[in-house]
Amino acid sequence: MAAEAAASDDRVIAESRPTVLGTGVTSGTRTEMPSDITAHLMHGDTLLHIATANPEYVMFARSDPAFAEALTGSEIVTVDGAGLALAMRMLHPAVTIERFTGVMLTHDLADISADIEAGMFLLGAGPGIAEQAGAILVQQHPGAVIAGTWDDGTPRAEHDAESHARIRASGATILLVAYGAPAQIHWIHRNRAALEDAGVRVVVGIGGAFDYISGNVPWAPSLVRKLGLEWLYRLAREPWRWRRQLVLPQFVMLILIEFIRTKGDLPRNAR
Ligand code: UDP
Repeated sequence: MAAEAAASDDRVIAESRPTVLGTGVTSGTRTEMPSDITAHLMHGDTLLHIATANPEYVMFARSDPAFAEALTGSEIVTVDGAGLALAMRMLHPAVTIERFTGVMLTHDLADISADIEAGMFLLGAGPGIAEQAGAILVQQHPGAVIAGTWDDGTPRAEHDAESHARIRASGATILLVAYGAPAQIHWIHRNRAALEDAGVRVVVGIGGAFDYISGNVPWAPSLVRKLGLEWLYRLAREPWRWRRQLVLPQFVMLILIEFIRTKGDLPRNAR
């Protein structure tokens, strides 16, 4: 059983990743990943960084080498955004990909926490939000262990030491970081060694997941979600996001160019 678990753990970590505009994405189904994560929590003694990527991540990585390095350094990159899922299907039709958002991952980790009594630490988000999200997670996943929350810090280095001390004291092995992108990815990359030393085995940047789980930010209507237009709904509710979302049309153009280029390559490669 232990050997089986360790083998499955290695599979995830060592897997080569298909890329979208240079960003590697971990293939697999939503049901495979949680069992790999559980195996790592039970038997792993290193830190597993799971990044939940969307088109903005891909575009950040193209313009910010430090972000690209941090993302490449993460052991698992899940497909969070609908635009990235579509791009994967266009560019890598043979690869199995399922969307695995920060919210889904948070719920799955709460299930795992309940199953194996692994403590979760909820870092970041607005005042009281992580605590509210934690209470809801325990309600929906009885037995989930919220080992601690801290919303008073920031992703800036001056708060690193206090974050480490609080996480270590909590005994959590699962850490959810809600500092938004790109800050949470930089934060996790910078703090990797300290987190591993503090006993954390799985760390995830989950963006606005606590805002949704706590009910402070409403879900987009289901039709909007089905159409993959959450970004548009979010833009309508939070217009200050327009500057960040300027990269999205550029993402679409680059994907179309890549799609045409790779389709054009196929006959040549096949020869
Ligand atoms: N956040 C935070 N401190 C910061 C920046 C962001 O706690 O300095 C929190 C914010 O309150 C929200 C979460 O990070 O709960 C995600 O932010 P955002 O929605 O911008 O991230 P995205 O999901 O778009 O990456």
